[in-house]
Amino acid sequence: MSILIKGVLLCAPNKHGLVDIYIEDNTIVEVSSAGKINVEAEHVVDGSNHIAFAGLINAHTHAAMTLFRGYADDLPLHEWLTNKIWPLEARLDAETVYWATRLACIEMIRTGTTTFNDMYFFMEDVAKAVRDSGIRAVLSYGFIDLFDEEKREVEIKRTENFVRFVEGLGCSRVKAAVGPHAIYTVSRDGLIWAKEYADEKGLILHIHLSETKKEVEECQKEYGESPVKYLDSIGFLGKNVVAAHAVWVSDNDAQILGRRGVSIAHCPVSNMKLGVGRAMPYQTLRNVGVNIALGTDGCASNNNLDMIEEMKVAALLHKMSGDPTVLNAHEALAMGSVNGAIALGINSGRIEEGAVADIVLMDTRSSRHVPGYNAISDLVYSSTAAQIDTVICDGRFVMKNGVIESEAEVLDKVKKLAFDLVGRESN
Ligand SMILES: [Zn+2]
Repeated sequence: MSILIKGVLLCAPNKHGLVDIYIEDNTIVEVSSAGKINVEAEHVVDGSNHIAFAGLINAHTHAAMTLFRGYADDLPLHEWLTNKIWPLEARLDAETVYWATRLACIEMIRTGTTTFNDMYFFMEDVAKAVRDSGIRAVLSYGFIDLFDEEKREVEIKRTENFVRFVEGLGCSRVKAAVGPHAIYTVSRDGLIWAKEYADEKGLILHIHLSETKKEVEECQKEYGESPVKYLDSIGFLGKNVVAAHAVWVSDNDAQILGRRGVSIAHCPVSNMKLGVGRAMPYQTLRNVGVNIALGTDGCASNNNLDMIEEMKVAALLHKMSGDPTVLNAHEALAMGSVNGAIALGINSGRIEEGAVADIVLMDTRSSRHVPGYNAISDLVYSSTAAQIDTVICDGRFVMKNGVIESEAEVLDKVKKLAFDLVGRESN
């Protein structure tokens, strides 16, 4: 298949201008000044009155938690998890997770996300949902051994089986990763196994790290060092690690993360909603060269998967430090796109020749884009995802002129499954 997008305003960090974009199969073959590409394409898209930006990359989420959107909010973190979320998760089944992930993919497409980094359960069904939705994902089974040797063996088998499953799925948009949940749910031996297995297979290691003060204090008590130092002492940290949150990290922790080439998935909305008590030290981490991507976290703690919103919130949160020059619109866009691609090791997040064709078109015929002095400022600070009308992933339309195939069916199905799960009548 070939697609030619004509005369669209390209929005990328530190770069914008009117261009034509030519796509063949799943690859961006040419990006030139508007009017310069004269080829016959199967699909020609008129890019006038639109901006184009690289498909956004949600670097940390739990897609199927769309099921829990709005089920329990405004509670203390521990109470929320133990009384509300975990009992429901214990009742999940494969079918429910499949459809909840389909719902998440629809929401991501509508909000301009074409890749996500996921950690959850029933991952074979998550993989099928991603394959069927047409977008891209890096998927890890949430490895939790609770310091029990028997359980560790079970989790190792499950992780290996899932990686094998993805290899056999034969879908280039779906990649497996290894997902030891966190230092407080996975034993030292479990973490070391995950690290060695990920290295051997060339996979990403996806973990929650230093999200709360409690996690850091308990680690200090147990191991006499911070979570970052603890992971470093067992050789866990490296370029393939994507650490979600990294809120409670010290200057010394930041140095270690920078030295080891770890990527961070910053989740500002989730951190604020769960009241983690401080902001991730953005400038410190950036100054030591840490690659900082952006994630929404799951829908129980956000409560959406909207990366446009996440970019704005990230920028605003760090300006609250007292310095409005921190995290400008270009940086926010980079965090939501190319930094995520670096974190996940994928050839996406850029509208450039040779990158995979993951492109979002946003209609600028909206009050939010007038006068239109600065398209990148408008995209990050004033637009809403509702203005996105066309999304291309891997060279295929996953939304065209506002239409996503089978959307109504997925919405109905999830509503029913969710109310069945919580044991309530649907309204
Ligand atoms: Zn999470």
